[in-house]
Amino acid sequence: MNQSVFQKAMNEIHSRRLHASAENERRFQEINTVIPELAEINFQMAQTASRILHGEKIDKIRQQNLQAQRYARQLLVTHGYPEDYLDMHYTCPYCQDTGYFQGRYCTCLEKEIASLSVETLNRNTQLQLRSFDQFSLEYYRGLTKSNTKGETVDCYAKMKKTLDYCIQYARNFTAHAPSLLLYGEVGVGKTHLSLSIVTEVLRQGYEVIYDSVGNLTSQIEQEHFNREKSDINTLKLLLDAELLVMDDLGTEFQTSFTDSVIYNLINTRLNRNLPTIISTNLTPGKLEEQYDERIMSRLCAVYQVWELMGEDIRMLKMKERRSSQYL
Ligand SMILES: [Zn+2]
Repeated sequence: MNQSVFQKAMNEIHSRRLHASAENERRFQEINTVIPELAEINFQMAQTASRILHGEKIDKIRQQNLQAQRYARQLLVTHGYPEDYLDMHYTCPYCQDTGYFQGRYCTCLEKEIASLSVETLNRNTQLQLRSFDQFSLEYYRGLTKSNTKGETVDCYAKMKKTLDYCIQYARNFTAHAPSLLLYGEVGVGKTHLSLSIVTEVLRQGYEVIYDSVGNLTSQIEQEHFNREKSDINTLKLLLDAELLVMDDLGTEFQTSFTDSVIYNLINTRLNRNLPTIISTNLTPGKLEEQYDERIMSRLCAVYQVWELMGEDIRMLKMKERRSSQYL
């Protein structure tokens, strides 16, 4: 793990503790002015240690303190405050914002590490968010031959259906949404659609990881073979993310290691009922040739498969720009 991620997470937890303590201090000062009687009670209770030192019986002091506490709570309520107004209010009740609970890292610290790591991962991808509004159906015209069924279909109608599906998918996203396989040739809008889903799902507050299969598998490979211990466990993050989007399956440098990582990701996430979106330039037939049967059987059996079609939009846009120069 990258040391700075752990350090940043720890700093965040510590700043929560400092904040809780400063807020508690502020409340005591406020109450001292508003309810002087309570200030006196608090002062008396603060003398406990010195009373013990002076030989008073502990049981007696404890009894008196309990009574004083009950009375203090009543006083708060009488003055319109919640009865626990002067208690310490930590963000995490388990570790009291120390990051450690029962001798181990607390779940709040682990959560903070995971979310900082996801941020770091996505920052490295230079995630460029897109929106469905920018997806223009204008470029999808004419009849196109479908790669899977071999039949001729109306390109516009097919793409409109795909776009509508993706919009609904993103809007109604849940932690157990189905997994998708988007396939089609270069430039037909796979990345635009998957990034638009990412944008919408992030907006709803879910934890999303997006990157190309090549980058993700090489990151995992580095961490796997690197002897130095690393703070970021990319494989674990990808297995746990609420939505994982893996772009460009089939363009990675394929080895038995990358294949087993891809299988592990697909299989484990399906077993945990977590959604994954995979995009690829390969047709299902080509995927079958290139990948293990196990990977294909999981993809075909459970993923919702969408074929994207049309001409390469980047080329069409370039042609448009050229012809407008001669107008
Ligand atoms: Zn905690």
